[in-house]
Formats: sequence, structure tokens, C-alpha cells
Amino acid sequence: MNTTLRTEITVADICEGFVYNELEGKGLFGLAGKLTIQPEYQRNYIYADGKKDVAVIESLLKGYPLGLIYFVKVNADKFEVLDGQQRITSFGRFVTNKFAVKDENGMEQYFSGIAADKQALILNTRLTIYECEGTESEIKQWFRTINIAGIPLNDQELLNAIFSGPFVTLGKEEFSNSQNSNIQKWSAYVAGSANRQDFLECALHWVSKENISDYMSRHRFDTNINELKTYFNTVIEWVSGVFTDVLSEMRGLEWGQLYEKYHGTAYNPANVSEQVQKLYSDPYVKNRRGIFEYILGGSVDTKLLDVRVFDEATKKAVYALQTAQAETNGVSNCPLCALGHDANKNKSWKLPDMDADHVSAWSKGGATDIKNCQMLCKTHNRAKGNR
Ligand SMILES: [Zn+2]
Repeated sequence: MNTTLRTEITVADICEGFVYNELEGKGLFGLAGKLTIQPEYQRNYIYADGKKDVAVIESLLKGYPLGLIYFVKVNADKFEVLDGQQRITSFGRFVTNKFAVKDENGMEQYFSGIAADKQALILNTRLTIYECEGTESEIKQWFRTINIAGIPLNDQELLNAIFSGPFVTLGKEEFSNSQNSNIQKWSAYVAGSANRQDFLECALHWVSKENISDYMSRHRFDTNINELKTYFNTVIEWVSGVFTDVLSEMRGLEWGQLYEKYHGTAYNPANVSEQVQKLYSDPYVKNRRGIFEYILGGSVDTKLLDVRVFDEATKKAVYALQTAQAETNGVSNCPLCALGHDANKNKSWKLPDMDADHVSAWSKGGATDIKNCQMLCKTHNRAKGNR
């Protein structure tokens, strides 16, 4: 790969013909049409937060360097931004009056409202740009290894770069477009932000059964995303059909895996909802995120709920009482050992060798209360399980 250092290009040059697409949140073109600011392998513009974009303008006004910018030379007259898209889009948006910065008196000022010398200072700033020429794979390899200034690319953004092509473009149109009206519905079940590719990543994660890069490489040149879309929508419809309640703990669960495991089972949404409400209001359930899988699996695996256990004081008190009674009766202090016929019939267990057990099982309504606590030897407690 060849690189050429360019130091004569100014902010004004880049901003000539700058186009920003508000809907897609992308800086599109600059440098009089010669520069593509957001090629398809780039991430969406994420500096429009009133902080990072403002910091870019403040740097320019103070004469601080903006850092290195990299262009890929596509041909003699065409360039793509490899690194620097966020910074370029920030000053492009400012120069075209898309946002304001505070002046020394704390007043919000748009570009057109600031003093002419300050306008000139920004426009005449020379940038430090490396033009890179190389094969697509060389450039992408390199793109993957450089540490992008500001916010590093996350995993999905890197994969989008590596497998750029029609499939990624269509995938981003559907899943990384914050203007897509479905995003809000999806957010009930999927965590993260569309701009940072979290929805695309989730859709790929589900359809590929957790093997995203393999899936992306196989579908790289597909001109449709039908399978991806259909599978994602099927999972979402399944979840929202089974669970009519929308609860914050649902966000980000492995719905794809749960769909695979349980979509063949019939559920009555009204019953499911009743169970959800009951478990939600149960003070013994420590892990509410486990409620959904617990119900899907037939309300058996209480480990998923991390049910609150007896505290140490309760265990000690019950142990002392049981042991005293057992000594009087000359039997084991584990009531189940005491009923048996083997060598443990008279064994007196030490506290660390015993576990607390719900006499009446928690899942059958038994409380985590001293009155419902008995100490069993570890073997019997395990054998009793979730009766
Ligand atoms: Zn026992």
C-alpha cells in the first residue's frame, strides 16, 4: 500500500459541495464531489451529541490539530474517507449551519453568526491527510488494525468494514437506520443503538446461530437480506406473541436461542402473563431477567431465578435446634438420614456439611422464612432438588 502525505487541503476545500443527509445521519460528499465521506464500510455519524461535534469546532478555533485523516485514493479524482469521517462531518455540518457552538459570552452561535476572522480561521485550517492507495483487501486489513481516533470501531462496525458489499449496505439500511419506525418496537427486546450497529448485530447473531462473521462472508455479495429480515421478524413476533407484557428486563436477552429451543411449544399468553406478573412481584426472585426462560421451560429450573436463600443466622438457629433434638432422640441431625437404614442413621453432621432447604418448596409457594427452613445433609438436599 502506498501513502502520500497531503498538507495543503483546507477545511474550506473539504466543505466545497458538502452534503449531509439528515435522515440517514451521514455526511455524504465533499471536496467538490471528489470525496465520498461515508463509504458503505464506515459507521454512521455519531458525533452529533452536542459534545464531540462541538469539540471539533473548538479545536479548530483554538488552532489545535484535528489529528490525522486518511483518504483512500479510488482513482485520480476520487477519494473515500478511511478515517476522519466523524471529524469531517462535524465541521461540514457546522460550516453549513447545522449546529451552533457557544461563544466566549456563552451565546449559541451558528457559523454564519460568528465573526469573519473566526470563520476564516476555521475555513483556512489545513488538514493533515494521508492518501492511501492499495488493493481493497490491503486497505481493509489496515483499516482493521489502525486505532480510529476518538471512539474505536466496535466488533460489528469492523465486520461491516471487512465484509462490505451489497449485503452490508442493505442490512444497514434496515437495521442501522434510526429513522426506521420499527426500531422502537425492536428496542423492547434488543439492547443498544441502531447507529452503533447493535440491531444489525443482533439480527445477524440470531440468524447465524452466533456465527456472525461466517454468515457475513457467505452472504457478502447477496443482493437481498430476505433471510435475515424474515428470521429476525419471526423471533420478534414470537416473543411479543408469547409475552404480552413488555418489561425492561426483556431487553437484550438471547431471544434467538430461546426461539430455537421453545418455538415448538404452545403457550397461553394470558397464563404466561399471569405467571410473569406473579414472579415480578415475588420478593424472593433475585434475577428477573431469568423469569422469561423459566416460564418458557415450564417453570422448573429455579436456578434461572436466583431465588433468595436462607441467611446465615437462620441456618445457624435451625441447625442448633435440629441438632439438640436429634441428640435427645439419638438419631442423625439430618431428618432424612434419620429415616434411613444405613450408617448415616445416627450421624451428627457439622454445619458446613449441611444445606438449608425449603420444607415446602419455593416454587409451590413456600416462603424463605425460618418456619419453612430445615437443614439437610448436602447429599439429601441435592437429591431433594426442586420438589
Ligand atoms: Zn441426610
